Amino acid sequence: MEHQEFNEVKQVKEHESKLLSQDKVENLIQQAQEAKVSAYCPYSKFRVGAALLTTSDCVFTGCNVENACYNLGICAERVAISKAVSEGHNKFKAVAVASDMSDQFISPCGACRQFMREFGSDWLVYLSKPDGTYLEMTVNQLLPVSFGPDDLSMNKVAN
Ligand SMILES: [Zn+2]
Repeated sequence: MEHQEFNEVKQVKEHESKLLSQDKVENLIQQAQEAKVSAYCPYSKFRVGAALLTTSDCVFTGCNVENACYNLGICAERVAISKAVSEGHNKFKAVAVASDMSDQFISPCGACRQFMREFGSDWLVYLSKPDGTYLEMTVNQLLPVSFGPDDLSMNKVAN
């Protein structure tokens, strides 16, 4: 019991140490809003921008990119993550997501949640509104009980 309490305290402290300062969050959201301007969304007219902060404090941005073959469209979050990974960065602190919805925080789709989870489940996702207000969540909160890279090496029944 005591051991469990200790673990809980430790986890809270670890989580707090990963939180970004207000300035950094606002800056990341601003960059997501700027990335949104490049959105290629002639079909949905639904602009989304993302700004991804790596553990080495680099920022990679992305916007949604749609296609005349509708189902080939890709979300801003996955564009930003793919840009980072292709440049040699795959450890992330946070991602901010921005859209034009004034009444609702933009929320990553299921595919993007799984894409984020590939690179860890305890990093931060900021769901924002155009006025700069935001919700702070972790990847784990957005995608609980997830399937990830470690699951591939788990014990399996013999075939
Ligand atoms: Zn998505």
